[in-house]
Amino acid sequence: MADGATKVAGNEVIIVPESEIAGLMTAEAAFEAVEAVFAAMAAGDAYNFPVVREAIGHEDALYGFKGGFDQAGLTLGLKAGGYWPHNLERRNLINHQSTVFLFDPDSGRMRAMVGGNLLTALRTAAASSVSIRHLSRPDSKVLGIVGAGHQSHFQLRAAAKQRDFEKVVAWNYHPDMLPKLAETAAAIGLPFESVSLEDLGAQADVIITITSAFAPSLMDAHVKPGTHLACMGTDTKGKQEVEAALLARATVFTDEVAQSISIGEAQHAVAAGLIAEDAITQIGAAINGTHPGRSSENEITLFDGTGVGLQDLAVAAKVVDLALEKGIAQRVAF
Ligand code: NAD
Repeated sequence: MADGATKVAGNEVIIVPESEIAGLMTAEAAFEAVEAVFAAMAAGDAYNFPVVREAIGHEDALYGFKGGFDQAGLTLGLKAGGYWPHNLERRNLINHQSTVFLFDPDSGRMRAMVGGNLLTALRTAAASSVSIRHLSRPDSKVLGIVGAGHQSHFQLRAAAKQRDFEKVVAWNYHPDMLPKLAETAAAIGLPFESVSLEDLGAQADVIITITSAFAPSLMDAHVKPGTHLACMGTDTKGKQEVEAALLARATVFTDEVAQSISIGEAQHAVAAGLIAEDAITQIGAAINGTHPGRSSENEITLFDGTGVGLQDLAVAAKVVDLALEKGIAQRVAF
């Protein structure tokens, strides 16, 4: 592609609508973008702004902003959106709605507006797969999934690229949702078994939890030595997927420590005095090599993925580049 096609005039804003994201973004591109921004965060080159999340008193909606600045990638902006619980039944729209806005860090001008719904799913899947790449045992063979909702399919697909998994074992609070996850496993050529939590913990080398639970399902006693866990569902005060004692037995990593102890899975272990805040390591340190990551075959590693605004900005910036390269970016004078 000639350089001219990717140039953006000073008065132009790039729009990439939601409908174009699936054709542009890949799990691989999301992985690279999220891995790079986690590394930048740990190096002190990128930081997230305080999150705003409000119950707006209309349509039972939760609305908010997640923003940040990545000085290494020169990405500045925010994701605005939230959760409208009646969208599906009242409007035939999905309940999670978000849009990413990117700004030029040199001038403050808006640079791009990007649909954020599919990107949120892809960046969340990328986060657990980054943790699997950097923290799980290289010989991991069995992938365990706790959860079978919308996001679980993305987590499974992305995780499967990181290790030579031979099988998926899964458990869900609502068992009727598991056959759909089995279809996703079949689509990527992996045998699938619905199992008890005891069996899941006994078999799995890597476990992803991705539920909206407010009480733990997976207990400390379920998990065998050497397991890597990516706990991805807990992103709000009060939610919990695994027993707090498991975090005391594990080496705990996270995307951002401030979120991990307040809205992430570690909130419960820290509140109970089972682990200290300074025992939690940013995963970017393991990516940068300033932390050794997994130190033995028997160590349990746990990634508390809370979801940060910089992940959204990183994948949105990548999509803008891809849309420009492919000549399908919409340009609006602004
Ligand atoms: P979903 O509504 O499609 O699925 C919810 C899942 O939770 C289902 O598997 C359901 O069976 C399970 N569940 C519901 N109640 C439960 C209970 N009491 N005990 C155990 N399991 C229960 O939601 P989703 O889109 O798949 O998202 C799952 C979770 O991930 C949500 O909590 C969401 O907020 C969170 N999330 C986190 C990030 C992040 O960056 N960390 C990003 C997106 C979503």
